[in-house]
Amino acid sequence: MSVLLLGGTAEARALAEVLVGQGIDVVSSLAGVIEGPRMPPGQVRVGGFGGADGLADYLREHAVEAVVDATHPFAARISGNAAAACTATSTALMRLERPSWAERPDASDWCWVDDLAAARIAAGERGRRIFLAVGRQGLAELADWTEPAIVARVVEPPAVALPANWQLLCARGPFPVAEERALFAAHRIEVLVAKDSGGPTTAKLDAAAELGVAVVMVRRPPAPDGVAAVASVAEAERWLAQCARPR
Ligand code: NAP
Repeated sequence: MSVLLLGGTAEARALAEVLVGQGIDVVSSLAGVIEGPRMPPGQVRVGGFGGADGLADYLREHAVEAVVDATHPFAARISGNAAAACTATSTALMRLERPSWAERPDASDWCWVDDLAAARIAAGERGRRIFLAVGRQGLAELADWTEPAIVARVVEPPAVALPANWQLLCARGPFPVAEERALFAAHRIEVLVAKDSGGPTTAKLDAAAELGVAVVMVRRPPAPDGVAAVASVAEAERWLAQCARPR
């Protein structure tokens, strides 16, 4: 059984590890946007496919039988391309999507917004000392925000120049909650702006709740229509096992 695993997430790496351990023919695919990505075990290809058509060509050329889209919930383009390419080639597709943070008990206290432009307005209404955890690409959209004091954390620095009122922290999580609490306290953070990436890495949210820091949360973009989804590596593994069974 030949599997293409669209990755760039911890879940994708975990699934790759399981499948490689089972001797399944799996190729992990990374976008190649981060310079020093954490590499999954097994075969890896790097770089875009050239849109949905390019991905469909890849599926045909490599006789891929099943695709697992384990990309980040905010990586909407590749997920849309995967849906279109799998439909065009009649390839089985499953989305592995970490659970949203919307189910957290404190999520109803947060200000939920649709995009970063709305997040900026909502954050400005809630405080003057802002912590941005919106990823490197997100920073580019906000880089003309010169008024409040901004601390932004990213894994790798953005390509754009940032205003003088910004402090950039380059670090790769996960971070312990005590560290997040100390960081927010040291910078006297009043508002946390984050994207609903979801999953188990919640230390910044826990620290914000403990310190009474307001949270502005960007909602996920809609997932492509008609694509089945699972929330865990174990469920994705079971789905692949079913795909592999002779019919
Ligand atoms: P995106 O907007 O959906 O994708 C932009 C383009 O990058 C896609 O059209 C595709 O190019 C290529 N691409 C994306 N993921 C790919 C993959 N796994 N393998 C091969 N090509 C891929 O995605 P993004 O937001 O730029 O994110 C890029 C990658 O970083 C994703 O794989 C995602 O899992 C990971 N990531 C994203 C975030 C986030 O907040 N967005 C956070 C953590 C990790 P072609 O059209 O040419 O095929």
